[in-house]
Amino acid sequence: MTSDDLLARHRAVLPSWMPLYYAEPIELVSGSGRRVTDAQGRTYLDFFGGVLTSMIGYDIAEIREAVERQIRTGIVHSSTLYLIRQQVELAERIARLSGIPDARVFFTNSGTEANEAALLFATNHRRSSQILAVRNSYHGRSYATMGATGNRSWSASALNPLQVAWLHSGDRLRGLLARLPEADRIDAAVEDLREVLATQTAGDVACLIAEPIQGVGGFVAPPDGLFAAWKEVLDSHGILLISDEVQTGWGRTGEHFWGYQAHGVTPDLLTFAKGIGNGFALAGVVGRADVLESVPAISFCTFGGNPVSTAAGNAVLDYLRDHDLQANAARVGAILADGLRAATADLDHVAEVRGKGLMLAVEIVRPGTVEPDPALTTRVLEACRAGGLLVGKGGLHGNVLRMGPPLTLTEDEAREGLAILVEAIRTCASAEV
Ligand code: PLP
Repeated sequence: MTSDDLLARHRAVLPSWMPLYYAEPIELVSGSGRRVTDAQGRTYLDFFGGVLTSMIGYDIAEIREAVERQIRTGIVHSSTLYLIRQQVELAERIARLSGIPDARVFFTNSGTEANEAALLFATNHRRSSQILAVRNSYHGRSYATMGATGNRSWSASALNPLQVAWLHSGDRLRGLLARLPEADRIDAAVEDLREVLATQTAGDVACLIAEPIQGVGGFVAPPDGLFAAWKEVLDSHGILLISDEVQTGWGRTGEHFWGYQAHGVTPDLLTFAKGIGNGFALAGVVGRADVLESVPAISFCTFGGNPVSTAAGNAVLDYLRDHDLQANAARVGAILADGLRAATADLDHVAEVRGKGLMLAVEIVRPGTVEPDPALTTRVLEACRAGGLLVGKGGLHGNVLRMGPPLTLTEDEAREGLAILVEAIRTCASAEV
């Protein structure tokens, strides 16, 4: 079967709004390390790591063996009504790593479910369905998480079960905090929070949900320390802080294990997903015991924390620790970021190269403006693919190239991908003018 047949069948049976990258979508049939191969035998260096999901890389022996060991026992899934050793072990490790004292862990299958559960815990604990969220955020595709998502194009539902008041994001190009001197950005954001609380809420707010660096929103980072400044205000109202670490967790930012640590404060709840299963469906909430315990028995999540995904999760944590991948993300990410900045400094089409560690973005605009150029961004994406490199796209306007490669990316691979990306940006940008 060719990928063409598959595309026609995909279009006939899956909803048309499901995004597929590239004019000729790719069918991947194998992977190894940081490289994947399509049905036509073309190999690509994967700078997007699936969608930041292949955090260790493809076909990594230690992870494959841990999963295979579990599968061979015959217990792929039984029930969370029984004890599952690797689930308990993983929960203990994540609770310890979270930095939240006496934490509890609830496993789910996706980031959406994790955030849905976190919002459920917070709103129950506080007995309020009013929440705060951030413009340009993305938290998932259920009613509550879409409701907390600050971008209409990703939050189709008119039936938001929560009342949401919106805070400004840390965008340096547009919005309240744009172009303010670094020293003033936190004060402006705190003033925004105070004003939103006073003017757009009834006072009994349950929580603020925020990403330490906005992922789907285009790797937009608020100023370091903002969560701590926010939390001072939140604490004075008893409002809980949920850090959505679906993209920022596990050392990806290079400088810390969690994104929230750049903000100098510990959240009440933290949600995780994507990389922890290295492709296996594994996600969850870790947080304050009194908050997680506040809901009536919500039964269980049938597949949440199942033996196979938690076997993968423990193997991923072992691998991260044994290979110090956080340090690798910092070192290799710096090569990539410095190289990108140097190679695009003279290009008016590049508004910003931003991010931390191996979570890096390039924002593409019309020359000399901050007007997004999604068409050029798509052409760059196609040119990268033609050159053998996969990158992601994102941002409110679809004009941000995103890189979230496996944290095992080597320096040579970083340089190889960098050359392809720079060539693609320069070629496509010069064809524009
Ligand atoms: N939260 C963030 C920050 C995300 O980036 C995503 C997915 O991209 C989600 C939540 C939703 O996760 P999932 O797609 O696993 O439901």
